[in-house]
Amino acid sequence: MFIGHLAPAFAARAITDEAPRLGVLFFAAQLVDIAFFSFALVGLENFRIVPGITAMSPLDLYDYPITHSLLGTALWAAGLAIIVGILMRNAVAATWAAVVVLSHWVLDWVSHRPDLTLAGSGETYGLGLWNYPLPAIAIELGIFGLAFWMYLKRTKGPVAPPLIMLGLLLAMQAYSWFGPEPVAANVAFILLGLLSFGIMVALGTWVSSTRWHRTKVGLGVASTPI
Ligand SMILES: [Zn+2]
Repeated sequence: MFIGHLAPAFAARAITDEAPRLGVLFFAAQLVDIAFFSFALVGLENFRIVPGITAMSPLDLYDYPITHSLLGTALWAAGLAIIVGILMRNAVAATWAAVVVLSHWVLDWVSHRPDLTLAGSGETYGLGLWNYPLPAIAIELGIFGLAFWMYLKRTKGPVAPPLIMLGLLLAMQAYSWFGPEPVAANVAFILLGLLSFGIMVALGTWVSSTRWHRTKVGLGVASTPI
């Protein structure tokens, strides 16, 4: 998944304004992929391009135990929770950050072929939704759209920023689905991936600075942008 990973971030922020701001939650949602691409850049983790390995994605993710084992993802979640907890002095915010990091593994488990481990080796898991293009597209757009709508409903602000964000995210997703397939697991592909995550976090940070939680607007305490 790509923008589907942002669904838990939108949902968390829609459920409670105690969750971190949207930019932080976008970072949390993609944290283990950001770490994976960074590690791949320096050879700590590895993948290769195998056209047709799944119907939707040619990525052969054969070596990513530090970021994409369930244990590894849980440790990244705990690490981010500690940082958020210290910076925001709020255990609820820290917990939401951790939940959103963990949601990445669950959505990867649904999408990937069996290439995910529980603790770095042994049995591999993955339901392989990427082998079913139409359901995969419908589910990714469905959860993204539902969570985006929940976020819009629970927040208030000018309409342009979220619409601009929506357009750019959908454009990036369309490129991922229908653009040229990567030819190799090279530096250019990895940097493009990291750039796309950077754009996502920047968009979330920007949009959150323009919107307020509806529950607080009427109470005169709407000074904290979300
Ligand atoms: Zn991932």
